[in-house]
Amino acid sequence: MPPVDVDRIKERNPIERVVAAHGIKLQQRGERFVGCCPFHEEEHPSLVVYPATKSFFCFGCRAAGDVIDFLRRKEGIGFREALDLLGERPAPPLDTPKRDAGEAPPQESAPRLTVDDRLILSAACDLYHEALGQNERALKYLERRGLTLPVIQRCRLGYSDGQVLKPFLQRHRFSLRRATEMGLLRKDGSEAMARRIVVPELRGGRCAWMVGRALDERRLKYLGLSLPKPILGYEGLRGHDRVFVTEGAFDYLTGVSWGLPICALLGTHVRAGRLKFLERVPEVVLVFDTDDEGQRAAHDLSASLGPRTHVVELPGGVKDLGELGARPDGRETFFALLENLGLAAKEVQHAPTP
Ligand SMILES: [Zn+2]
Repeated sequence: MPPVDVDRIKERNPIERVVAAHGIKLQQRGERFVGCCPFHEEEHPSLVVYPATKSFFCFGCRAAGDVIDFLRRKEGIGFREALDLLGERPAPPLDTPKRDAGEAPPQESAPRLTVDDRLILSAACDLYHEALGQNERALKYLERRGLTLPVIQRCRLGYSDGQVLKPFLQRHRFSLRRATEMGLLRKDGSEAMARRIVVPELRGGRCAWMVGRALDERRLKYLGLSLPKPILGYEGLRGHDRVFVTEGAFDYLTGVSWGLPICALLGTHVRAGRLKFLERVPEVVLVFDTDDEGQRAAHDLSASLGPRTHVVELPGGVKDLGELGARPDGRETFFALLENLGLAAKEVQHAPTP
């Protein structure tokens, strides 16, 4: 690991913002911020954050330190992991076990985000995740689609009630302009993800992008942030020599709930450059929509990837993998289809029991 310039890291990651982005409600008192200490039980705030010296101190339990110390203690992680959380160390590249020695591993370029961008995204993701747990209707919707607590937690799914993000950003002096540019807020200041189930793309455990699925029937069923569209679920493919590729966010969630190493292209019109990561994956299983467009895309992609590709044809009357996931016999049906393709053994072993 190259030498680390801690002063620069502290400069780039204002401690009051990092503390706020990790769920501590801070109030400004002159030059400092105070909030409830996450390191001991308390009702009256005794944690003080000092932007000038880039440090914190708790008058209750005497916890103290800089932004890195805060993260280490709050998340129970080491120095390097804390740097990862701050985005100060590039995430390790995706690695597949069968690649030739000396060859560069496949990579997908992650969108370039500033420290503040990342903090805004993390905060939005956390707020939405918390809100989902309290929204009966959204939880019911997910349950109907076969998506329960393990997937909600693992994929950090969220829900926006349209009320929490802007006040949070204002309270912590994040740029509303930047939040608008990224597509979290609309020009009129309202929340873009309002009344949507939010599916974040996580990189190194932190939100790098998100797409929202409207709960009510609206013209725009899916709304993504105005940042470069990622391959959804990209990091979960690491270390797998057979990966599943699907189209949409809920197809992806269904695959995750069945224990598959799966990613979603978020559409069928995908630039060739974004598919580079598939070049060195030994086996690719395509599970695309059953409509003409999906079938054509699966055929084209299969032709360009060659014989290591398998195409799963979903049963008639089912639109996509997500819809199959909502059926009581969906999982069973899917694994039977895999078995017909001679593909079952591996995934069945890993698949969690329903
Ligand atoms: Zn304390």
